[in-house]
Amino acid sequence: KREAFEKKLAELEQRVSEFELSSADLFSELPLTEETARGLKDSHFTTLTAIQKKSLPLALKGRDILGAAKTGSGKTLAFLVPVLEVLYRKKWTQMDGLGALIISPTRELATQIFEVMRQIGRYHAFSAGLVIGGKNVQEEKERISRMNILVCTPGRMVQHMREAAGFDTDNLQILVLDEADRCLDMGFKSSLDAIIKYLPRDRQTLLFSATQTQSLSDLARLSLKDPEYVGVHDKA
Ligand code: ADP
Ligand code: MG
Repeated sequence: KREAFEKKLAELEQRVSEFELSSADLFSELPLTEETARGLKDSHFTTLTAIQKKSLPLALKGRDILGAAKTGSGKTLAFLVPVLEVLYRKKWTQMDGLGALIISPTRELATQIFEVMRQIGRYHAFSAGLVIGGKNVQEEKERISRMNILVCTPGRMVQHMREAAGFDTDNLQILVLDEADRCLDMGFKSSLDAIIKYLPRDRQTLLFSATQTQSLSDLARLSLKDPEYVGVHDKA
């Protein structure tokens, strides 16, 4: 069984490295695990949206992304698919702790992301949790320490990181900053800075927003490494 897994993984890595950027219109054309492919199919996602078409191939190859596209353009899958694939390819298991952190400005948005993750990630074995406050901190803390993937709001995440006990971010592989512009508008700049300081520098980061501003560029400079700029604009 171990050998079969290693063989599958080697084939997948090969497909990823041979994959030509921007050549795919369908999820089925991307070099994805069977698990993710089935999760997407079951959820009736077949054709890539414009932002997914531009950013997914790069993100799957491990690049940092600074992505800008308006609300409703499909940014959620543009980061959830790479999160699942990156962890799988790193042979992440439930024992490996926190591998991916997804930060979203509001409880409502974080909850939506979590629901999509549950749908498309259903055939993966990762544990995933939602950290949005409003629950018992102690109980949340115990749950967090067992999670591979967390979807959180900035304020609550900082609180847990500061109180640290049992919460290890040293192995984090991928950070997602969703609706980064809105996070800044809502006054989460110092929380985001604090979270980023707790994370290992050697990681992949995907930053998405609807708009481009100076404060967003500052955050991008702080959090991203040689990013690809991916923008989708309305037709004139
Ligand atoms: P954004 O985060 O950019 O505002 P979402 O990720 O929330 O956008 O997606 C907006 C809507 O589009 C959701 O209802 C989602 O299910 C749908 N959607 C996203 N990607 C696809 C796709 N590839 N095919 C069909 N529907 C999609
Ligand atoms: Mg969104």
